[in-house]
Amino acid sequence: MKHPAADLGRPPDWQAVERVLVVRADNLGDVVMTTPALRALRTAAPHVRIDLLASPAGARVAPLIPAVTDVLTVSPSWQQAGTPRRAAELAAAEAELVDRVRAGNYDAMLVFTSHSQSPWPAAHVGMLAGIGLRAVHSTEFGGAVATHWVTPPPVGTHQVDRCLHLLAALEVPSAGPELELVIPPTDREGPYAVLAPGGSCPSKRYPADRFAAVARRLADAGLAVLVTGAPQEAPLVAAVVAGAAHAGVTPLGDVTVPELAGVIGGADVVVCNNSGCLHLADAARVPVVVTYAGTEARTEMPPRTTPAAEVLGNAVPCAPCRQFQCPYHQECLDLDPWHVAAAALRMTREVALP
Ligand code: SF4
Repeated sequence: MKHPAADLGRPPDWQAVERVLVVRADNLGDVVMTTPALRALRTAAPHVRIDLLASPAGARVAPLIPAVTDVLTVSPSWQQAGTPRRAAELAAAEAELVDRVRAGNYDAMLVFTSHSQSPWPAAHVGMLAGIGLRAVHSTEFGGAVATHWVTPPPVGTHQVDRCLHLLAALEVPSAGPELELVIPPTDREGPYAVLAPGGSCPSKRYPADRFAAVARRLADAGLAVLVTGAPQEAPLVAAVVAGAAHAGVTPLGDVTVPELAGVIGGADVVVCNNSGCLHLADAARVPVVVTYAGTEARTEMPPRTTPAAEVLGNAVPCAPCRQFQCPYHQECLDLDPWHVAAAALRMTREVALP
């Protein structure tokens, strides 16, 4: 429902704006899904310098985003879950963040969020740092903290469209919904598949033993299989490789995100959870099979840029659950590995056609 005080900010004069700070402080895939909005802004106001405020995970993809000049890498209080840090420690970190933002002399701050996140802490940092225009999506009242408080699109809207919606409210038209990353070339030769069994929380991860069975099936079919994950997912990657017990299934090893994007760009197919690799594969226009948990609505972040994608997952009454740990038996991802592998092999055959 729309609040009577929302949607009252006048569209800015973009010709008078020189420096914009875009806030996208969650995960790598969320940053990738912001790229159509960044392109829209760059197209509408080519003179504007765009900096990105991102988490350490999100910042790793920034070198591949053509519209971004500089990155402020932070772990702000509002993105932290689990064991709370001491208030004094958090206050010191936030005061330092305000100083860093103020030093950027930004004219505008655009806060991009998913519907379950609050934009207000980020906008408050922008206000304390003296940024004159602060635009957010929210259904909740935040007073004068934002200058442009925009009623968001319905829950379930694709993240890309949600970002474009915020810009449209500021009279920045869309320049298309396709993801945009500069994918580096790779000298790896195919045919090969990339498997990414990780994900931001356990509830999103298709079980490792089933990923191992998928890997073994793809390797039996003649694909080299490279298993990858974030540095903290090394044990998971090792478990999948060991479980596959096939000479054609190997770990990709330590790579930067740009290197990973390059390897993904050369792959015949990618198999992954609803994770950063999904969006890297989508941006690289590579065939992708997604084991998509019911943690988020199926409409919020499926691949749309790549011409070949299959999203697998069971419809369950508990979805979308937003749980980090499944309280049940992860019925949404109770998928036969043969079915997952068959989808991947079907795609490799499709891309082999002239
Ligand atoms: S089975 Fe239900 S509660 Fe468990 S992860 Fe899937 S959608 Fe969430």
